[in-house]
Amino acid sequence: LRAREALGRLTAVVPDFPSPGILFRDLTPVFSDAEAFHAVVDAISEPFAGTFDAVAGVEARGFLLAAAVAYATGTGVVTIRKAGKLPRAVYSESYDLEYGQAALEIHQSDLPAGARVLVLDDVLATGGTLAAACALLDRAGAAVVGCGVVLELGALGGRTALAGRTVHALEIVR
Ligand code: 5GP
Repeated sequence: LRAREALGRLTAVVPDFPSPGILFRDLTPVFSDAEAFHAVVDAISEPFAGTFDAVAGVEARGFLLAAAVAYATGTGVVTIRKAGKLPRAVYSESYDLEYGQAALEIHQSDLPAGARVLVLDDVLATGGTLAAACALLDRAGAAVVGCGVVLELGALGGRTALAGRTVHALEIVR
C-alpha cells in the first residue's frame, strides 16, 4: 500500500513532546510530500466510498484531511473547532485530557438533518477527541457513517471510547 509505505518512511517520531514521556507521531512530513499526501487522502476515504455527503474535520490537523477528501469526493466540509472559535450558535462537548478538560464545538446549523458525515482526524489516541466530535454530530442531527484516522495508537484504547462507531485507521502502531 502506497499510503502505508509513505507513513513508514515519512512519519517523524518525537520523544518527550508535548511533555516528558510522550512519544509524539508528527505527520507534517507526510502532509508536505505531494505523493504521500495524495495517497493518504485517497486511502482514508476509500473504506467509506459512496456513504457520506459531508466530511467533518477536527481542528486543526483534521481540517487538512477533511478539506482534501471533501474536494476529491465532491462533498461538503464541516469544521469541528476548539471552544470559542465559531461565531454562531453551537453545540459544545467537553472531554477529558490527560490533565484537565477541553471542549469542541460545531455550528448547530451547518448540516441538513440526516446528513451522512465522515469524521476525520490525524491520530486516534485515547479516543476522547473523536468521541466528542461524534457526539456533536449526533446532537446536530447528522448520521455519523464512521471515523477515519491516519494513525491509531493502539495501546491507548481509542476503539473502546468509540464503541459502536465504525473506525478505520491507515496504520495501527502499538
Ligand atoms: P485522543 O483524544 O484520542 O486522546 O487524542 C487525539 C487528538 O490528539 C487528535 O486530535 C490528535 O491530533 C492529537 N494527538 C494525540 N497524540 C498524537 C500524536 O502522537 N501525534 C499527533 N500528530 N497528534 C496526536
